[in-house]
Amino acid sequence: MNTKTLTIGEVHSSLREGRTTATALAESYLSAIAAHDAEIGSYLTVTRERALAKAAQIDHLVEKGDPLPPLAGVPVGIKDVLMTAGVRTTAGSKFLDKFVAPYDATSVARLESAGAVCLGKLNCDEFAMGSSNENSAFYPVHNPHDTTRVPGGSSGGSAASVAAGFAVATLGSDTGGSIRQPAAFCGVVGVLPTYGRVSRYGLIAFASSLDHVGPLANTVEDAATVLGVISGRDPLDSTSAAAPVPDFAAECGRDVKGLRVGLPKEYFSAGLDTEIRNSIERQVDGLRAAGCEIVEITLPHTEYAIPVYYIVATAEASANLARFDGVRYTSRSTQVKTLADMYRKSRDEGFGAEVKRRILLGTYVLSAGYYDAYYRKAQQVRALLLKDFQQAFTQVDAIVTPVTPTAAFKLGEKTGDPMEMYLSDIYTVTANLVGVPGISVPCGTNQQGLPMGIQVLGRHFDESTVLSLASAIERQQK
Ligand code: GLN
Repeated sequence: MNTKTLTIGEVHSSLREGRTTATALAESYLSAIAAHDAEIGSYLTVTRERALAKAAQIDHLVEKGDPLPPLAGVPVGIKDVLMTAGVRTTAGSKFLDKFVAPYDATSVARLESAGAVCLGKLNCDEFAMGSSNENSAFYPVHNPHDTTRVPGGSSGGSAASVAAGFAVATLGSDTGGSIRQPAAFCGVVGVLPTYGRVSRYGLIAFASSLDHVGPLANTVEDAATVLGVISGRDPLDSTSAAAPVPDFAAECGRDVKGLRVGLPKEYFSAGLDTEIRNSIERQVDGLRAAGCEIVEITLPHTEYAIPVYYIVATAEASANLARFDGVRYTSRSTQVKTLADMYRKSRDEGFGAEVKRRILLGTYVLSAGYYDAYYRKAQQVRALLLKDFQQAFTQVDAIVTPVTPTAAFKLGEKTGDPMEMYLSDIYTVTANLVGVPGISVPCGTNQQGLPMGIQVLGRHFDESTVLSLASAIERQQK
């Protein structure tokens, strides 16, 4: 069996027709991980027993001829920022090296109740801060298409494991691009659901007004199926929305004829790699041929998105990360004399350099005297960014842009220059600032054989249009 290309639909029919068992399937993926993940580094923890116990339950259902839930027997991996009861959950940080989650995140619980077989916890940048996975405190992840290159971040393990055939689908988190950017670098599909669509209960918070949980998979339909399972109101997360959840997988086949698709000129300016630009133009020609109306639009405040993001995200991170103080959850420094010393030393030893940089920046922009100049100003500009989108969506039904300015870069290429690293999120952070849904879909490979991605953004809670366009783009690749 080719674990690299297996889809949810194929898992379902193979189980139904007795061509495989959930246990055999889990064993194939576990062996693939054991044999080849050393080169990739996508898993931090493999949960063999949990996987086999779930697989046995599914095989029992199949034997009895019971109806199978939508993800029956589907091998999945979970980004290590989501709680998994009884399993080590590190957020990619040495500080949480020994932390065992006391409960399941809602998204994880929903996956498993839908029959998914959880293979383990996936590597990521520490506290989801990063664009290359090089901020993992454990080991970097390597891009399966070229192991000298990064897989993107912060959900690098989530993207690389799907691309390498170590999971059929995975969960990631996206605060400024962390699902879509690694999906583009690794040649897989990644969905940013609307803010509020998917519960964040059990997600280790980075920046609460920007954090989203979402799926990664090999196909748009698989990502849509997983999205359907994890979506919907959760009484345990007051920010989750009660909006009805459509049958997302069914929406994938919807006709795109007559849809108005916007191309924002600010997203195609200098700095965008020519091969990516050309590929996007080809995809747009395809959409035009399929009956979409292509409209040039403007999102005039785009140039402020990166500075606004790095103020809002760091401000919120500095507050969220205050809970890691050496008292609860984390390791504690022992060489201390006073309580204040204990907090200081534990945080100093526990957090990595990028996390410290963010806490410093965030504390600075919130401090008296600077609050008005930075944090308040950033929130005002954030409102203008939202207005840009509201205005655009009076003209168009969806927006198409690049995901990243370049294809996957080399390991070590940007680690010395945080600004350079931050700029790799230039096309993704705005969706988080305004809360709209988006998707990254593969659109071919460049001359070096590296994957390229295209992004589709939609109106709040209109994942359906986003998915139908994404699926039309996916069909164009064949
Ligand atoms: N790369 C961005 C950052 O470093 C986004 C991270 C994310 O989406 N979690 O903040």
